[in-house]
Amino acid sequence: MNALSPEALRRGWCPSALKPMETGDGWLVRLHPPRAVLTPAQLIRIAGLARKYGNGLVEISARANLQLRGVSLATHPELVATLLAERLVEEHDGDGPQRLTLVAPLPPPADCGGEGRGGRQRQGRQAETGVEPSSARPSIPNPSPPQAGGRGQGGALIDAPSLADAIERAGRLIPGLPAKALVIIDDGGPLSLDGFACDLRVVAVDRETVAIGLPDERWLGPVATARALERVAELLSAFAAHRRRDPDTIRRLRDLPPTLLDEMIGATGLTPTTPPAARPAPRRAGRFVTAHGHAALIGLPFGRSDAGTLHRLGEAALRAGASTLRLSPWRGLAFSGLQPAAAGPLLAVAAELGLIVDPDDPRLSIEACAGKPACLRANSNAMADAAALAEAAAPLLAAGASIHVSACVKSCAHTGASGLTLVGREGGYDVIVAGTTRDKPIATLDLPAILARLRPGQELFTRLSGRGTMGPGQ
Ligand code: SF4
Repeated sequence: MNALSPEALRRGWCPSALKPMETGDGWLVRLHPPRAVLTPAQLIRIAGLARKYGNGLVEISARANLQLRGVSLATHPELVATLLAERLVEEHDGDGPQRLTLVAPLPPPADCGGEGRGGRQRQGRQAETGVEPSSARPSIPNPSPPQAGGRGQGGALIDAPSLADAIERAGRLIPGLPAKALVIIDDGGPLSLDGFACDLRVVAVDRETVAIGLPDERWLGPVATARALERVAELLSAFAAHRRRDPDTIRRLRDLPPTLLDEMIGATGLTPTTPPAARPAPRRAGRFVTAHGHAALIGLPFGRSDAGTLHRLGEAALRAGASTLRLSPWRGLAFSGLQPAAAGPLLAVAAELGLIVDPDDPRLSIEACAGKPACLRANSNAMADAAALAEAAAPLLAAGASIHVSACVKSCAHTGASGLTLVGREGGYDVIVAGTTRDKPIATLDLPAILARLRPGQELFTRLSGRGTMGPGQ
C-alpha cells in the first residue's frame, strides 16, 4: 500500500482508516466497524492492532466510532490492510460521511422485522431496553415496520439500526454531502438521543410513524416509518444540491438560509408537526434487561482506554457469553446477549478496570478532548484535568451539571453548550458558564483555582447550582 498523500493527511478532515489525521502523538485512525457493531473477539483483535500498530490508546468518539492513536507512516499500511481483510471496518470511497447516521447502542425490538434471534416470538416479553446482535446478518433489508400493538421489547418503537443502514446506503449515492453530515435515528425507546446535535433527527412517534426534526427545531411529519427513508433521502439530496452550489457557506444543514430551507421542505411535501413528547434523560451505563437477555453498557472515561484494558474487557465479555457489542455515543460499549447471571460479573470486571458502570458516575457528565500530549493544538492536558474536575465537582454533576474541558477553542469533544466550559490557555483555562468554547469567558483561572471555586459555597459551585453570579475577573 502506498504512503498517504499530503492532501489525505491535511488537518480538518474527518479522519478514517484510509485518511488518518496527524496529531501530537502520531496519526489518529478512525474506524467505522460495520453498523457500529463488533463481537468481543473482534474487540480483542482491535486492541491487539492498537498495540501493534499504534501507541495502544483507543478512543470512542461522540459519534460512536473507534479511534486508534499513535499510528505512523510505517505502520499504517499494514494496519489498514488487516482492518479491511478482517472486515473490521466498512470504509468507502469519496469525501462524503463515512458514518452518516447515529442510533442508540441498543438494537431494535425482536418483532421489528427480523433483526433479533427468536424474532417475533418474543414480542410480548417485557424489558427495559432492546439489545440484539445485528453484525452477524449478511445483508440488511430495508426497514420494515414492527407489528402494531404497543412498544417493542426494550421500549423501542422502530427498527432504528435497519433504517439507519438504509439511510447510509442512500447517503452514499448523494454527491455533495459534507463529511460531518449526521442523521440521528431515535427509536423512541429509553435511550433518547436528544442530547446530540445533528442535521436531521428522525424520532419514532409510535410504531408506525416518525417525525423529522430540523436544526432550527422545526418538526415535520408525521411520516409513515416505511416512508422515512424516502423522505430523509429527499431532504439530504436537496441539502446536498444547495451545498454543491455554495460549498464555502453551506457546510451543514443549519447553514441554509430560511428561504432555501422552506423551499427544500416545500419540495418534499412534508408539513409541520408537533415535537415528539419529551422523554427522561437516558441511562448511560449499567445493566439492562432485554427480551434477548441482559446487556451491560460500559463507558470509557472521557472516551479513552488502552489496549490492555480493552483486551481484558473483551475476555470478560467472552466469558460472560456476550454475543455482540455496539459502540455507544456516550463513549462506551453495550454488550448484549448476556445470561442474567453473567451481566454482574462482566460489570464487576469493568469496574475493576476503572471503566464506567454506574449511570451516576460523574465522569459521564464531563466531555474532554484529547488535549496534551495527544493533540498538537492543545494548551492543557484536558483528560487529566477532567479526572480532577470529576472528583471535585461530583455533587454538582450528580445534580445535573455538565462540564466541557477543551484544550483549545476548537471544541472537538463537544459542540454544544455546557454548564461549565473550560478552554485551555497556556497555564490555565478560560472559564465560560452556560456556553460554548466560543462564548465570552467570565474569568481565566488555573486548575487549582477552578477546583477551589467548585467547592460548595464557592462562586462556581453557586453559579452551576443555578444560584448567584460570578463577575468578570474573578
Ligand atoms: S479541541 Fe482539543 S483535540 Fe481538538 S484541536 Fe483543540 S486541543 Fe486538539
